[in-house]
Amino acid sequence: SMASPALLMRVVASAYSVAEKAATIVRNVMAAGDLGIVEKTGANDLQTKADRLVQMSICASLARKFPKVTIIGEEDLPPDEVNEELIEDGHSEEILKKTCPAQYTGIKEEELVIWVDPLDGTKEYTEGLLDHVTVLIGIAYGGKAIAGVINQPYYNYEAGADAVLGRTIWGVLGMGAFGFQLTEAPAGKHIIVTTRSHSSTLVNDCISALNPDSVIRVGGAGNKIIQLIEGKASAYVFASPGCKKWDTCAPEAILHAVGGKITDIHGNSFQYNKEVKHMNSAGVLATLRNYDYYASRIPNAVKQSLVP
Ligand code: AMP
Ligand code: MG
Ligand code: MG
Repeated sequence: SMASPALLMRVVASAYSVAEKAATIVRNVMAAGDLGIVEKTGANDLQTKADRLVQMSICASLARKFPKVTIIGEEDLPPDEVNEELIEDGHSEEILKKTCPAQYTGIKEEELVIWVDPLDGTKEYTEGLLDHVTVLIGIAYGGKAIAGVINQPYYNYEAGADAVLGRTIWGVLGMGAFGFQLTEAPAGKHIIVTTRSHSSTLVNDCISALNPDSVIRVGGAGNKIIQLIEGKASAYVFASPGCKKWDTCAPEAILHAVGGKITDIHGNSFQYNKEVKHMNSAGVLATLRNYDYYASRIPNAVKQSLVP
């Protein structure tokens, strides 16, 4: 008989279904109309009912199946009983059938850390910029982001009633990434994607120094990595603290699975072990191709302002 699938593939297959359930919750909360907005550190750092319900759904669903895995979610929530309606117990059969990369077949539950951003791009969600929103489930082993799921609940929402709403992108290092069409940005053009709601003088000075052909300002770390892997932008540049490990873990795994690179603004790789500081204090620099072009042009003054 067939050996049972490797733990990593079972986790990714479950995370895929859990992320689809999350997307349904994100859409249902918006459709119901009461977002229940709470300010966390301020007006640009929000939490909605969707952030809360989705985190409960993802964390409780994965914890039930994988009780020894460490799961770290963005939102600080009271340790309430989770409504059974929020539990997803399904998995993707297609993912489960894939062969786990050899270097990951021996991973045990207690060695995995899952970083959950239940709703990335909350500010944009509250402003109706719905396709900026993603649900991020990142899977780390040995401090590295090795697999990830990005669900975009409102993919295609402006494409008309016939279009299928929403999509799920997933990837594993050594296997690749799926659920989208990998596309390179236009050759010779420097198109930078950055924050729209967390700008600062430093963020803008850094972008100016890179002399871009154009700048795309959109919400969400997940959304910006999608811009890179679909060839809409050539570099994601964010010279500021603000992004956290749950923002970068799933995007990093998917970007690295297709040969891209993400680091802080100094070129340091991110760590995802459970003890790590949550804040990515020294910003974000990510590309699908030509990482060195951008890294070599980050001004020293910008680097000196951002302490890792
Ligand atoms: P953005 O590109 O502004 O959408 O940011 C990407 C992710 O980092 C989102 O989850 C933001 O909430 C978070 N983030 C970035 N900057 C800040 C900040 N100054 N305060 C709170 N969250 C931030
Ligand atoms: Mg986020
Ligand atoms: Mg969030």
